[in-house]
Amino acid sequence: MNIRIGNGYDIHQLGGGRPLILGGVNIPHELGLLGHSDADVLTHAIMDGMLGALSLGDIGHYFPPSDPQWAGADSLVLLEQVNQLIVDRGWQVGNIDSVVVAERPKLKPHIAQMRDRLAGVLAVKPDQIGIKATTNEKLGPVGREEGIAAIAVVLLDRK
Ligand code: MG
Repeated sequence: MNIRIGNGYDIHQLGGGRPLILGGVNIPHELGLLGHSDADVLTHAIMDGMLGALSLGDIGHYFPPSDPQWAGADSLVLLEQVNQLIVDRGWQVGNIDSVVVAERPKLKPHIAQMRDRLAGVLAVKPDQIGIKATTNEKLGPVGREEGIAAIAVVLLDRK
């Protein structure tokens, strides 16, 4: 088989006194995402999709929240390590499609930069990284701005 597919989902709570980092981009907002690492929910969903495509488990296995080593970690550094895992096994990212679900702030102005950041780490072209943004139409915890969620589908190609 020359292609594999994986999906990933993540959600983090919003809170004060934290930066909002999505796809490796620091986005101006009065709230940020809470978590052990930088809580970059989009990058986490993408990593789980990459690992899932090769049935390699999930990011909690590789970067457990109980390990102080990952406190405040830059998720792009973790993404680079996950990419190395798949490259070492003879695979590369074919394309990614993702959705960030956030009531606020408006993410559209930042999407091009997120694609560039992620593509740079994964050594692919920005047009291989799809990022869409939607609100949750004020429904549920995401709609009440208690958190931000992300979903990703990842296709891997054999090198
Ligand atoms: Mg996470």
